[in-house]
Amino acid sequence: MALIGQEVSTDPWIDIPGEVIDVLRSWRPTPLVRAERLEAALGTPARIYFKDESVSPAGSHKPNTAVPQAFYNKVEGISRLSTETGAGQWGSSLAYACSRFDLECKVYMVRASFEQKPYRRMMMEVWGGSVEPSPVDDPSHPGSLGSAISDAVRDAVSRADTHYSLGSVLNHVLLHQTVIGLEAKEQLAMAGESGPNLVVASCGGGSNFGGISLPFVPDAGVDILAVEPSSCPTLTEGRFDYDFGDTVGLTPLLPMYTLGHEFVPPSIHAGGLRYHGDAPIVSNLVQAGRVRAVAYPQRKVFDAAVQFARTQGTIPAPETSHAIRAVIDEALAAKESGEEKVILFCYSGHGLLDLAAYDDYLHGRLIEV
Ligand SMILES: *Cc1c(COP(=O)(O)O)cnc(C)c1O
Repeated sequence: MALIGQEVSTDPWIDIPGEVIDVLRSWRPTPLVRAERLEAALGTPARIYFKDESVSPAGSHKPNTAVPQAFYNKVEGISRLSTETGAGQWGSSLAYACSRFDLECKVYMVRASFEQKPYRRMMMEVWGGSVEPSPVDDPSHPGSLGSAISDAVRDAVSRADTHYSLGSVLNHVLLHQTVIGLEAKEQLAMAGESGPNLVVASCGGGSNFGGISLPFVPDAGVDILAVEPSSCPTLTEGRFDYDFGDTVGLTPLLPMYTLGHEFVPPSIHAGGLRYHGDAPIVSNLVQAGRVRAVAYPQRKVFDAAVQFARTQGTIPAPETSHAIRAVIDEALAAKESGEEKVILFCYSGHGLLDLAAYDDYLHGRLIEV
């Protein structure tokens, strides 16, 4: 009920419970890093900063909402959470959060990833979660995020001790993620910047994007850019309409940019960006013209990822690399125009469990979609 209250709240601020802060503080505040070596390699006058969300236990921004979701469910007497996961980033984040609050965690994992990407399944199991390939009723189907949501919702409605938990898209999830942008605002000020001119993040369901950018929406003169894959171009080519969040049609209808709830995106390496819809809040801001969106094919994204790794040193997640691609292009445009702009982006996660994707890229096996 607390989460539903947050979903429909019109309050400008909602307090973070102390029990949640006690968990978040084990990796927050996350570092704000200036990408000086990338700037130098590009020869840009732009100053590039990123918020490093890869330092969380699960290696991405997702625990920022997994932790409060587990907490509020625990307080209301729920003992088990069900959810879906694509490549495993959300499932591993929720498994971690459930372990912190002694909840059981049941994860329906898209079958193709379950079979091909065992390491995140192992992480979930290490934290005590149990993982089942989806769709459960069709062992020959590779699965999709939409059908895994259907399996997780069916599980939750069939048991009194279980609630369903969603890792992106919904208002309360974006609310929890605003901790990223709120911290970044203070850290930029500490770095002597009056604020960003441009905020960039990758956009799957919209939670890391909303998390870093929503606190800057009221600020005049801040350009905000969402980056998505060309193979799943929800904001750039979808239609604005009411649609279901899952394939089967069990969720409430949401007003959003959508490619249709039966759209199954091609299998690209940025599994976290393969979602047919987008957060209603983000969709609204795009429709209103406050937020821009751009789409990139995955080869260009990996070009940027490798350039980042070879300058900054860390290896970004393929999802994160979409933001990096756009940041590099914007920084090169600033070089052309001689603008000294401040660019802030969300380093949403590390790519240390995505090395097979880098291997495909480096050895000419990446499919261009
Ligand atoms: C899940 C994920 C994303 C995309 O999800 P959003 O809800 O759009 O933030 C981006 N980056 C990483 C590293 C992820 O794990």
